[in-house]
Amino acid sequence: MSELYTKSLAEMAGLLRSGEVSAVEAVRACLDRIEATEPKLRALITVMGEEALKQAEAMDARGPDASRPLWGVPMVLKDLLTTKGVKTTCGSKILEDFVPFFDATAVVKLQEAGAILIGKANMDEFAMGSSTENSAFFSTGNPWDVERVPGGSSGGSGATVAAGQCFAALGTDTGGSIRLPASFCGIVGLKPTYGRVSRFGLIAYGSSLDQIGPMTRSVEDAAHVLQVIAGHDPKDSTSVDVPVPDYLAGLGREDLSGVTIGLPEEYWGEGLDPEVEAACRAAVARMEELGAKTVPVKLALTDYAIATYYIIAMAEASSNLSRFDGVRFGYRNKEAEELIDMYTSSRTQGFGDEVQRRIIIGTYVLSSGYYDAYYNKAAKVRRLLREDFDKAFTKCDLIAGPVCPTTAFKAGDKADPLQMYLMDIFTISLNLAGLPGMSLPVGLGKDSSMPVGLQFMGRPFEEETMLSVADCLERNLDPMAMPEL
Ligand code: GLN
Repeated sequence: MSELYTKSLAEMAGLLRSGEVSAVEAVRACLDRIEATEPKLRALITVMGEEALKQAEAMDARGPDASRPLWGVPMVLKDLLTTKGVKTTCGSKILEDFVPFFDATAVVKLQEAGAILIGKANMDEFAMGSSTENSAFFSTGNPWDVERVPGGSSGGSGATVAAGQCFAALGTDTGGSIRLPASFCGIVGLKPTYGRVSRFGLIAYGSSLDQIGPMTRSVEDAAHVLQVIAGHDPKDSTSVDVPVPDYLAGLGREDLSGVTIGLPEEYWGEGLDPEVEAACRAAVARMEELGAKTVPVKLALTDYAIATYYIIAMAEASSNLSRFDGVRFGYRNKEAEELIDMYTSSRTQGFGDEVQRRIIIGTYVLSSGYYDAYYNKAAKVRRLLREDFDKAFTKCDLIAGPVCPTTAFKAGDKADPLQMYLMDIFTISLNLAGLPGMSLPVGLGKDSSMPVGLQFMGRPFEEETMLSVADCLERNLDPMAMPEL
């Protein structure tokens, strides 16, 4: 079997542009890899094999186009990004047969840059979860140990990239769903600043929190993909009209002199698994050897982040998901005899337990008697959380900490939803504050032998600082091997 699948996106894009590898060869390498690994992994809900090959043939016939940075590169999308003519399920029975009539803006941008879309990745239903076990269809295995979860909610995107089924994937992150699976699968995952990437065509979970971002096998690859998808979009009024910098320009720095890294004590103490702490501390020590200065910072409201996030996210979800009523989109209970019964039974049968739990809680916290006590209060705490970050960033350029208190856990281990919510403790504050963050693999845990991710958090619209520092650290750590599958 061709070993092309082991290449990074940057290498592959170079080979494709120079004509050394054809688009058909690139697509075939990925499809072969999918065929070999998918029975064990189950990362993909849809594989667009034939369409991708046809597109690749047409592109090869015209020859490489150097003006398109991702020309011929096979990529995968989380299955909540709309794709014209291709089923988009959100991991839900209610959208099992939903075929959108338009592409998400991020998808259009990838296609314009020459990427070839080969699959749609499994996910927790409507992006609600941290393990991909909430998918209505099947669970996905972690490529490092298929008995363990790949993280979530973009677990299919994480697994497909880590296993070499494609060269990059897009995920979405509402409370950690890019960073957590990146950490669990040993890849790079970047959640951009809120407003950096258009959400047009992203089927909404928590509209004030959701962002689309790249999941890749290297920092450089993440920079390439972000470069393509970032920017203002008239179709999304929350996308911000701030110039897109050259994300590749800051890569390749020799050391980290002049960089100050803040270490929040709340992220480095109690509750952190010793193997995660050890791997993350070793990475921080490496940054110090490279010339970075570290300072303690305070994110004092971390303890309140989970409560705040779950009130806001569920409130927004209950409103966003009201559009799935059995009339306009997706599944309808055809046996229902009258209208109200049709709404209720379609939603009861179409949504899974976790989604229904969140709709109920979200509706409750928005109800007139409780709005002030819950939603309004959470909105205030959210503001204070952002102020904590702003204060911390007066002392440092970036904040670093673990992505998750543990490495990937065994499937079925977190059946209690509250236990699952606790996995998000280090990732959700960033979404509430709207800031950019990423997960960088820094090694394997010494007890579990599973990947550990270090999280970087940055100032708004300063993704390039994060990429530049992470790229330097990545080149100075032992290279991460690909998992044997
Ligand atoms: N685990 C969090 C949740 O279930 C975050 C999910 C996400 O980022 N989409 O809401």
